[in-house]
Amino acid sequence: MIAQLRTAAEALLSFVAPLQCLICSRRGEHTEGIGAFVCPTCWSNLPVAPPAERLFNELLRHFPDDELALSAVCAAFAFAEHSPEMRLIYGLKYRGLWRAAYLLGQHLGRVVCTELGTSGDALVPVPIHPSRRRERGYNQSEALAKGIAAVTGQPVWSDLLQRRVATPSQTRLSAAQRRSNVAGVFAVRDPERLRGRTVLLVDDVLTTGSTLNSCAEALLNAGACRVLAAVLVRAS
Ligand SMILES: [Zn+2]
Repeated sequence: MIAQLRTAAEALLSFVAPLQCLICSRRGEHTEGIGAFVCPTCWSNLPVAPPAERLFNELLRHFPDDELALSAVCAAFAFAEHSPEMRLIYGLKYRGLWRAAYLLGQHLGRVVCTELGTSGDALVPVPIHPSRRRERGYNQSEALAKGIAAVTGQPVWSDLLQRRVATPSQTRLSAAQRRSNVAGVFAVRDPERLRGRTVLLVDDVLTTGSTLNSCAEALLNAGACRVLAAVLVRAS
């Protein structure tokens, strides 16, 4: 509900004053589509992510073979951690731009089709803790998943994964610390739905992959047969 109100407020705001580009802050001329959030120049300069196969090999460097629960991963973009492009992610997280996340999800949906060739039986957004959700008004990964679903047609199972504890920020942690930071954090509600299914996990950012892998472990333990992942941005 809050997300819908926000979308309405954004639409109204963009009518009276066009939104600024999230990356370069220039006032936009577009009030519709992704152009209302990212100007055409910034959009065409966004660094495209490496192919899925290379992203998967990068993950293998962080996880021993038998600890990697993900079968494949794809990303739309690849940004450096403190680059101006990362403002796009901060916009989704902290300014609550539901509509922008949804439109970026549609873009990601097309990447999923070409890079993975399948989007599984259902889309599962990486959950944020309820307290953080209240703070932000929405879960940006859920909005991304709904955008993907608009392209691929799968159902979005937003309530399947639960985050049991609010984990502290991971930005200053090493890969090993990140793994233990999120181990056992995710629980699966109503695992019956999962049995024998392939699911596509959705998140905004991939760094070492520890959060996605912890989610994938929980899903496999609950009966999923395969877990794929799609992220908007691979940060490095
Ligand atoms: Zn711009």
